[in-house]
Amino acid sequence: MELVIVARSSIEEQILDTKKELHDLLEYPIEKLCEIIKEVGFECDLCARCCTSEFNDHVFLLDKEVTRIRKLSPDALKPAPYFDFCDNNGTFYVSGYALKTKEDGSCMFLENGRCKIYEDRPTICRLYPYMLHRERDDSGKLDWRQISGLNEHGCYHSEISDEECSKIATLTKDYEVSYLEHQIRFLETVSRHFKKHNMKHVQSIYDRMMRNLNKGKEVRVMVFCNGKFEEHLL
Ligand code: SF4
Repeated sequence: MELVIVARSSIEEQILDTKKELHDLLEYPIEKLCEIIKEVGFECDLCARCCTSEFNDHVFLLDKEVTRIRKLSPDALKPAPYFDFCDNNGTFYVSGYALKTKEDGSCMFLENGRCKIYEDRPTICRLYPYMLHRERDDSGKLDWRQISGLNEHGCYHSEISDEECSKIATLTKDYEVSYLEHQIRFLETVSRHFKKHNMKHVQSIYDRMMRNLNKGKEVRVMVFCNGKFEEHLL
């Protein structure tokens, strides 16, 4: 019998997994995150590496940030990489937008090592390197990650007041909750859309369309934003 490898779980399973992740996140004690922030004592040394794709894959934007960044710079956004689904007609679906990067991989708002939109930068840029989500470590073990790029940038063991630790921890948890809620809305919307139009995700078509994209052929991508899909031809 031929071995069939299922590349990804169904949309319904992904919705359940993401809801479970959200539940676990809400249970995560904020005091624990405060302790870790205090113990690590991270301090930014303005190296700007976190503003490059070499260090940080992409800057994902929540809906309210899409609206804000579009007002500042209408051409600053691109569909986030790693499209989530591809329907049987060859159209991709992705959960949101990311900031565009320049040819060298640095964020389009990075100029001479400084952020041109510092006061209006996205939430993730304000919080980084703090995070609160589950990731696999090098051994494959799934665990909470709280500080990104530990010991790869910045300074450590700085004094951070209890008040500041609490503020960072609360903002970080709020951001991660908003992110998961966004992902759930996206998955539920795709599921309804597929059911309504009698469509489904097809992995082999996904792979073929990705090959087309890599060869420079045009593909259609639906980007989830403010509860709807926005069409892009790439
Ligand atoms: S928006 Fe600013 S802070 Fe965020 S990645 Fe771009 S340059 Fe860096």
